[in-house]
Amino acid sequence: MPLQVLCYERADDVGFGVSGVVTRARAIKESFPDLDPAEIPMSAPVSDEKVLYLLDPGGASRRSTALRCADACIKAFSGLLPFKDYALELPWTPDFLHKGDGVLLSMGQFMQWVSARVQSAGTVQIWPGTPVSEALIDAGEVKGVRLIDQGVDKQGRPAEGFMPGMDIQAALTVVGDGPVGPIGQQIDRAFGMPEGHHMRDWAVGMKFVVDLPEDTGLKPGFVLHTFGYPEPEIFGFMYVHPDRIASLGIFVPSWFDSPVRTAYTYLQHWMLHPGLWQHLKGAKLRSWGAKTLGESGRRGEPHLAGNGYARIGEGSGTTNVLTGSGVDEAWISGVQLAEAVVELLKDKKPFTRENLEQTYVRRRRQSWLDEEARVAEKSRDGFQKGVVYGMIGMALAGLTKGRLTLGGHPLRPHERVPTLEKYYAGRIRAAEIEQLRKECHIKGTSLHAALMHRVGWRGIPYDGKLLMSHQDALLLGGKVQAPPGYADHVVFLYPELCEKCGTRICIELCSGQAITPGESGVPAFDREKCVHCGACMWNCSQAHPEDAERMNISFRAGTGGLHSAEN
Ligand SMILES: Cc1cc2nc3c(=O)[nH]c(=O)nc-3n(C[C@H](O)[C@H](O)[C@H](O)COP(=O)(O)OP(=O)(O)OC[C@H]3O[C@@H](n4cnc5c(N)ncnc54)[C@H](O)[C@@H]3O)c2cc1C
Ligand code: SF4
Ligand code: SF4
Repeated sequence: MPLQVLCYERADDVGFGVSGVVTRARAIKESFPDLDPAEIPMSAPVSDEKVLYLLDPGGASRRSTALRCADACIKAFSGLLPFKDYALELPWTPDFLHKGDGVLLSMGQFMQWVSARVQSAGTVQIWPGTPVSEALIDAGEVKGVRLIDQGVDKQGRPAEGFMPGMDIQAALTVVGDGPVGPIGQQIDRAFGMPEGHHMRDWAVGMKFVVDLPEDTGLKPGFVLHTFGYPEPEIFGFMYVHPDRIASLGIFVPSWFDSPVRTAYTYLQHWMLHPGLWQHLKGAKLRSWGAKTLGESGRRGEPHLAGNGYARIGEGSGTTNVLTGSGVDEAWISGVQLAEAVVELLKDKKPFTRENLEQTYVRRRRQSWLDEEARVAEKSRDGFQKGVVYGMIGMALAGLTKGRLTLGGHPLRPHERVPTLEKYYAGRIRAAEIEQLRKECHIKGTSLHAALMHRVGWRGIPYDGKLLMSHQDALLLGGKVQAPPGYADHVVFLYPELCEKCGTRICIELCSGQAITPGESGVPAFDREKCVHCGACMWNCSQAHPEDAERMNISFRAGTGGLHSAEN
């Protein structure tokens, strides 16, 4: 039988993922030597790069004493510095951050372009709208996958039109389901992680695709990165595509010790910063999305291969947190596995752990992917001790190629989430927090908005174009899809832990307002609002009673999500 590659994708179409994207595209260009950005909608060569340090224009951002001193110095010498609109343009950025010879892409458009090419060869079939529910593991070997059950109720019990998920047998199962993929998690639980490896560093990236104002001065290929605001821990980006379209967004990391890590609200404050608003005033939202990033890099690398299976992409620890790059790294891991498969097929060797180690893993270890991952491995550890320490640590690691780093032991996210009372100590009394909690519960409004307002964050001046309520954004274009007949993919594992949970961070951070207080103390999940970002899973503040690396939310295989082919 000739080689056949079947690719099951849970989303309703290829290219419904969420990413930036600016990439040096070294591996992508090797795969497509004649790559012409003009052929791919929304892509452009990188033309100009800037990094801005954003100061706090409103006084509500939670800044350390060190950062306040730095801000005061910048303001005092502002006449001598490239400082305007509360933003300092860095006069120099290290090489490891540059994407100079790279391209800007829309992940959705690029994936559609790629899928047309790979499927035209006949060997590859891509099946969108087909979530995989589990790997078939037998006697330590992965034998294939089981697709998700259809015609079930929210709890997964057979209902009208029940159709059990089909079993697909395969000589090799390739797991590339991203940082929060259920199959990767199942395999990690079944085979464990390599000694000392763990996935403890995460971020949620939320992105808007916008039409810039007609008189915009920004040119296609322009790349802007920001740090410092709305909270020092939050990084931002804006990339300008052709036709006045821009991608912009923020990353909210797991080491941001806040129980109100709400990406949607923070993204609106970020856009309103004078340094960005000068470009965004008059802009219009086209689409948006959110997705988790696995930020443990090489330290989060699982066993890359075993009998009958191999891991590729971000779920295999490819994302480089020093260079801020994940797409090209995920891509090359897939190419390396494909080359290994061809080699093993030619040699008529089976897909055993040993053979995959000698072909796929060997290629990976000898490539720039692994070399750069080693440089980046400890580069962000300093953030465990604070933002300034973290920035110095990153610069040190980058400039010394990973030889010098600033330490800090990565904690599990649930070990970092303080209670609301502790986080707001000295600013809001515990009794007032309790009062706000009750009021918000009665009104059905979010607690984080009330708390942020209370410590000085101004209200968002909704304009119905770019600045709109979370609910309105969810309704934009009717893009959240949740076909009936599938089980809920977000499950609160131990309701008794939720009942006594002090932070309820899952409700506050939810990227789609899909998690609400619920009755009897256990949150309620509404699949019709879930954008499938996966952030609730790693943000949950309570540890799984049997496995401290897991939390009290299970993020399972599921359909639907917030779909845009532009993200
Ligand atoms: C806002 C944002 C901005 C970013 N910006 C950049 C950037 O500028 N440059 C850069 O290089 N990187 C960037 N990244 C990181 C980059 O997007 C990731 O590193 C990259 O997408 C990883 O690719 P992947 O294919 O491994 O995983 P994913 O993109 O997560 O793809 C996994 C796929 O598996 C599917 N899947 C999951 N579970 C199942 C299942 N059970 N059954 C079937 N299918 C399933 C998912 O639907 C998805 O399509 C950004 C990320 C975000 C969120
Ligand atoms: S899911 Fe986690 S964060 Fe949410 S209420 Fe339950 S224990 Fe708390
Ligand atoms: S419920 Fe859905 S939208 Fe909300 S955080 Fe979880 S995955 Fe994201």
